[in-house]
Amino acid sequence: MTHIAHWIGGAERAGTSGRVGPVFNPATGEQTAEVDLASTAEVAEAVAVAKAAAKGWRSASLSKRSAVLFKFRELLAERTGELAAIITAEHGKVLADAAGEVARGLENVEFATGIPHLMKGSFSEQAATGVDVYSIRQPLGVVAGITPFNFPAMVPLWMCATAIAAGNAFVLKPSEKDPSAALWLARLWAEAGLPEGVFNVVNGDKEAVDALLVHPDVAAVSFVGSTPIAKYIYETGTSHGKRVQALGGAKNHMIVLPDAELDAAADAAISAGYGAAGERCMAISVVVAVGDIADPLVEAIAARLPKLKIGNGADAGTDMGPLISAQHRDKVAGYIAAGEKEGATIVADGRATDSLPKDGFFLGTTLLDNVTPSMTVYTDEIFGPVLSVVRVETYAEAVELVNNNEYGNGTAIFTRDGGAARQFQFDVNAGMVGVNVPIPVPVAYYSFGGWKASLFGDSHMYGPDGIQFFTRGKVVTSRWPDPGTSAIDLGFPQTR
Ligand code: NAD
Repeated sequence: MTHIAHWIGGAERAGTSGRVGPVFNPATGEQTAEVDLASTAEVAEAVAVAKAAAKGWRSASLSKRSAVLFKFRELLAERTGELAAIITAEHGKVLADAAGEVARGLENVEFATGIPHLMKGSFSEQAATGVDVYSIRQPLGVVAGITPFNFPAMVPLWMCATAIAAGNAFVLKPSEKDPSAALWLARLWAEAGLPEGVFNVVNGDKEAVDALLVHPDVAAVSFVGSTPIAKYIYETGTSHGKRVQALGGAKNHMIVLPDAELDAAADAAISAGYGAAGERCMAISVVVAVGDIADPLVEAIAARLPKLKIGNGADAGTDMGPLISAQHRDKVAGYIAAGEKEGATIVADGRATDSLPKDGFFLGTTLLDNVTPSMTVYTDEIFGPVLSVVRVETYAEAVELVNNNEYGNGTAIFTRDGGAARQFQFDVNAGMVGVNVPIPVPVAYYSFGGWKASLFGDSHMYGPDGIQFFTRGKVVTSRWPDPGTSAIDLGFPQTR
C-alpha cells in the first residue's frame, strides 16, 4: 500500500504524528494508500519553513517569478494526462473530466504568469507641489489553502498560482480523501524551479486545519468546502486576525423557460446534473421547469439517462464514475429515500444498482419530479447524481425560488428570449449566472465566488480578486525638494 507523506521545504517529509487516514480507489472500493495526518507541531514546522522561504521569494524579481510560473505552466500542460490519472484513481471522476479539471486549473496558472502586469500600482505626479503619490501591492507572507475532495488539483491551483506569483509562500492542506494530486503538484513546482519552502503540503484533518487557523504567522486562509466548515473557517480565522475567504456549498438552479430549446436544455441538465456524479459545487441539482415545458423536459431528461455508461472512470467510454466513499453513497441514497417519503415522483431511481460494478462506491442516476421547496432533497446540498425538478407557473415564481434558497453559488437560465435572460441576470441573487450555459464557472481572468451561504468573506477566488486577496496595498507619498528649499511647517499637509 502506498504511503502519502507531507511536502515541506522542497522535499517529501514523513509524518511524525503517528496518525494516518485511509485513501480509497472509489471505483474498486479498495484502500490504495494511507496518508499522514499532521499534528499541530508538524503544521508549525511547515509554516516556519514557509516563513523563511517567503522572505527570499518576495525579493525575487517579477520576471523571475513569472518565469517560474511559465515553466510550471509548460510542465502541467505536458503532463495533464499523468495528473488526470491520479485524480481518477482517488476521486473516481472519469479521465476526460479529470483532464478538464486540470485544464481549468491551468488557466489560473496562465493568468498568474501575467503577474508583472497584475502587480502594477498607480502613480499621481504632483499631488501637491513637488509631491508625488503612488500605490504598490505587496505579498502577505505565509498564506494557507484548505481544499475539498471534489477538485483535488483545480481548487489548489485556483489559490496557489496567484498566491505564489504575488510573492507569498503557500501551505496547502488538501482533502485527506484524495491527497496525491497535491503531492504531484508540489513535485512539479520544484521541477519548475520554485525555491524550496515556497509551496508546502501538510496532509491532515481537523487538527491540521485548526493549527493553520490559529497560527500567528499565517496571514491569510483561502478555503473551499462545505458550508458548515466554511463558516467555521471564516469565524475562527478572522477571530485570529487573518484575512479569510471561505467558499461553501451550493444548490444550483437551472431555470427552463417555456421558449427554451428543449434538447439543448435536456442535454445541459444531464451534463450539469450528473457530470462527476454530481460532486461539483457548480452542479445543477434543481431544474425549475416553467409552465408547459415541464412534461416534455422531464421526458427528454429521463430518455437520456439509460444511455449514460456508469463504471470505472479509468475505462474508456465511461460517462459517470462512483461517489467518493461508501458513507457518502449511502447518504445520497438516504436522500432519495427521503424524497420518496416526502412525496416526490421518482422518475429514475439510482438505487437500482444491479447493472453497476459491485465493489466500488457506485450509485445510479436519479431523477425526481414534483419536488417542492419543503422537501429535504430541495433544501439540502446532496452532492450526488440526483436531479430534482420543481414545477412553477411563471418566471417570477422561478426567480423567487432561487432567491429564497439558502445558497447562491451558480444559477442558469435557458431561454431564447434575450430580454428575459437580461432581466434574470438583473434579478437573481447568485454569484455566477449562466445564460444557456449550465455551469458558468468564470474564466481565470474573472473571479469565482457565490453569494449567501456559498461564500463567507467578501473576496471571490482567483482572477483579479485573487490578486487583491493575496496582496495588501501600500501608498507612498514622496517629496524630493530642491536643495535649499526645506522649511519647518507644523501645519497639516495640504495638497494645494
Ligand atoms: P469539507 O467541508 O468536508 O472539507 C473541506 C476541507 O475542510 C478538507 O480539507 C477537510 O479536511 C477540511 N475539514 C473537514 N471537516 C473539518 C472540520 N470539522 N474542521 C476543520 N476542517 C475540516 O468538504 P468536502 O466534502 O471535501 O467537499 C465538498 C464540499 O465542498 C461541497 O459542499 C461542495 O459544494 C463544496 N465545494 C464548494 C466549492 C465552491 O467553489 N463554492 C467548490 C468545490 C467544492
